[in-house]
Amino acid sequence: MSTQTTSTPPRSTPPANTLATRFAPSPNGHLHPGHAFSALTAWDWANANHARFLLRIEDTDRTRSRLEFEQSQLEDLAWLGLEWETPVRRQSEHMADYQKGLDRLTQLGVIYPCFCTRKDITEAAIAPHGADGVIYPGTCRHLSQDVRATRIAEGTAHALRMDVTRALAIAERLKGNRLTFTEDGSGPQGETGRLPVDPTPMGDAVITRKDGVIAYHLAVVMDDAAQGITHIIRGQDLFFATPLHRVLQVLLDLPEPAYHHHRLITDDTGERMAKRRDSKTLRDLRAEGATPDDIRRLVGLG
Ligand code: GLU
Repeated sequence: MSTQTTSTPPRSTPPANTLATRFAPSPNGHLHPGHAFSALTAWDWANANHARFLLRIEDTDRTRSRLEFEQSQLEDLAWLGLEWETPVRRQSEHMADYQKGLDRLTQLGVIYPCFCTRKDITEAAIAPHGADGVIYPGTCRHLSQDVRATRIAEGTAHALRMDVTRALAIAERLKGNRLTFTEDGSGPQGETGRLPVDPTPMGDAVITRKDGVIAYHLAVVMDDAAQGITHIIRGQDLFFATPLHRVLQVLLDLPEPAYHHHRLITDDTGERMAKRRDSKTLRDLRAEGATPDDIRRLVGLG
């Protein structure tokens, strides 16, 4: 990424409008070398650019998030040599904010209840598998208000989805232009520069899950804005989500950050380390005597 220098900035009371990046782990397991690569990439960029470095704990999913993992992740990150501003933002403490975002999207008429089960979606899916599994074919998008009201009154479990075609149209009307986002570095196919925004190939996104949990996409855009994040540095597995995030930013009147989607850390067979059940965690590697420099070398940053 741009403007590299080498000195380390002070970490106290940053000036307003300063550059800022973050690492945002989900506390549902111990960190792997792939997480270390992501965190170190953001950290190195922050240091090279006199930027703020923040952490965020993405724990909206209360069934999978555990305090013990949050603690172990923070400990591993400190061991790697990272320093972050405190207090650390925890998504579970900001549910009322996300609700306001959802209310705004509802007012804009882009949210609808989806009663489909996973099986319904798999059976009806016409599109190839997307990054989130199968692509939702839009079954509940055209239900009448009466049918929706009846099914909700009957107590049928439902998620809330965003009609992304409509959302994109409204966002483009609000902007008076086609939407784009800035990829500073490396998309999965080497994309860089101003890229067109089209979230429609991924289908209508879940904004609130059936269990009432606000989904990642809404929380992440609201948090990045709340934390003043100017540069989002994360894995290429989230490149597909960025058009959707850009639409949400416009609909919610949030500032536009720049994106850098970094390569994913794979083993010699090409499989992602973080996805392998038998892959070693940072704790395992530490227990075997690895140093933070060994981890840097392992992920190609040494
Ligand atoms: N919490 C997400 C993860 O652990 C990262 C989200 C992001 O960087 O935007 O994959």
